[in-house]
Amino acid sequence: MRTSYDVAIAGGGIVGASCAAECAAAGLSVFVAEPNVIGGGATAAGMGHLVVMDDSPAQIALTNYSRNLWIDLAPQLPADVEYLKAGTVWVAADAEEMAEVERKRAVYESIGVRAEVLDARALAEAEPNLRRGLAGALRVPDDAVVYPPCAARYLLDCARKRGAEIHVGMAARELARGVMKLSDGSKIAAGIAINASGAWAPELTPGIEVRKRKGHLVITDRYPGWVRHQLVELGYLKSAHSISTDSVAFNVQPRKTGQLLIGSSRQYGAEHASIDAYMLTRMLDRALEYMPGLAGISAIRSWTGFRAATPDKLPLIGPCDADPRLYLATGHEGLGITTSLATGKLVADQILRRATAIPFEPYLPDRKHEEHSHA
Ligand SMILES: Cc1cc2nc3c(=O)[nH]c(=O)nc-3n(C[C@H](O)[C@H](O)[C@H](O)COP(=O)(O)OP(=O)(O)OC[C@H]3O[C@@H](n4cnc5c(N)ncnc54)[C@H](O)[C@@H]3O)c2cc1C
Repeated sequence: MRTSYDVAIAGGGIVGASCAAECAAAGLSVFVAEPNVIGGGATAAGMGHLVVMDDSPAQIALTNYSRNLWIDLAPQLPADVEYLKAGTVWVAADAEEMAEVERKRAVYESIGVRAEVLDARALAEAEPNLRRGLAGALRVPDDAVVYPPCAARYLLDCARKRGAEIHVGMAARELARGVMKLSDGSKIAAGIAINASGAWAPELTPGIEVRKRKGHLVITDRYPGWVRHQLVELGYLKSAHSISTDSVAFNVQPRKTGQLLIGSSRQYGAEHASIDAYMLTRMLDRALEYMPGLAGISAIRSWTGFRAATPDKLPLIGPCDADPRLYLATGHEGLGITTSLATGKLVADQILRRATAIPFEPYLPDRKHEEHSHA
C-alpha cells in the first residue's frame, strides 16, 4: 500500500464509488476506505429509483443530469445491477393532485424530460392493480430502477481497473488538510480527501448540517407483471418534503426479479436500525389504500436505512471553505442513488478545474442553507 494518493475517499457507498470511478478515470491515483461491506450503508437500504425530481431548480438540474448519465451508462451495466427502464407513474388521487400533474408536466417539458398525462382510464389500463377512482397520473417513461449495492460494486470495479485501491474493513478516523488517519493507526497523504460517508459524515467532519433520516422498506415474493412502473403518490411530495414530521407515502417498485419493493417512510430522531412497528404499519396501510390487492401478496423481508438529510434538501458536494483540500460528497437524502453519477462528475471536475455540465455552486458545502418545506 502506498502512503500518498491524489484522492483519498472515506466511504464505499454508491457516492464514494462514483467519486472513485470518475477520479480514477481522469487519471488520478485513488484510495478508498470502507469499514463494512461495499454498498452496505444507505446504498443497500435504498430503493434504487432513478428519478427526475423537481423540488427546486438545483434539484431538478442535478437529478436530470444524473438520470441522463444513468441512461448513457445502462448498456455497460452488468446484469446484477438489474437496470430496468420501468418509468415512474406519479399517481393523482383527486382533482387537486391532477393540477399538480399538469404543473409537473410543464416543468419537465421545459427541460426536455418526456412526460405524459394519463387520465383515470389510461391509469387503470397502465396499472390494473391500483384501486379504482383515482383521478389520473403523470407517466415519466425514462425513469428507471437499479439494484444499488451491485451498482456501487460495479463503479468500484471500474475504479479498481484504473488503478484505484479499495480497502474494505478499514475506517477513516480523521480527515483533514490532506491527511486521512485510518483505523489501523496508519496515515494516508492525499491531495484531496473526500468525506463520502453518507449519514455518518458528521462523525468525520463535525459541524456539517447532515442529519439521519430513517426509512423502512418491504420486499415481497415474486409476482412478475403485477406492477409495471415505479408508482408514487403525488402526496409523496408533501410527505418527503416535510422537514420535521414523520411521514409515510405510497411508493411501490417493480424489480427485475418480479419482486415488489414497498415504501416509504421518513423519520427524524430515530437512530436505531430496528423496525418501528408503528411506522411499518402506517406505511403498509398507505400502500393498501392505493393497492388493496397487496393484502394478498406475500412479503418476505423488511429493513431500515438512514438517509443523510440536509436542511435545504440538496447534497453537499465540493470543497470546504475552511479546508479546500477536504471535499464533501454527502447529504443526498432520498436521491443519492439517482444523483451519485452526477456527484462523481462534479467532484472530479472541481478537483481538476474542468468545466462542469451544470452549475456546481448550489451544492457547495458552505452555501447558505435555507430551510424550506413544500407547500
Ligand atoms: C429507505 C430508503 C429508500 C431510498 N430510496 C432511494 C431511491 O429510490 N432512489 C435514490 O436515488 N435514493 C434512494 N435513497 C437514498 C440513497 O440510498 C442514498 O442517498 C445513497 O445510498 C447515499 O449513498 P452514500 O454512498 O452517500 O451513503 P452510504 O451508502 O450510506 O455509504 C456511506 C459509506 O460510508 C461508510 N463509512 C461510515 N463511516 C466511515 C468512516 N469513518 N470511514 C470510511 N467509511 C465510512 C459506511 O460504512 C457506508 O458504506 C433511499 C434511502 C433509503 C434509506
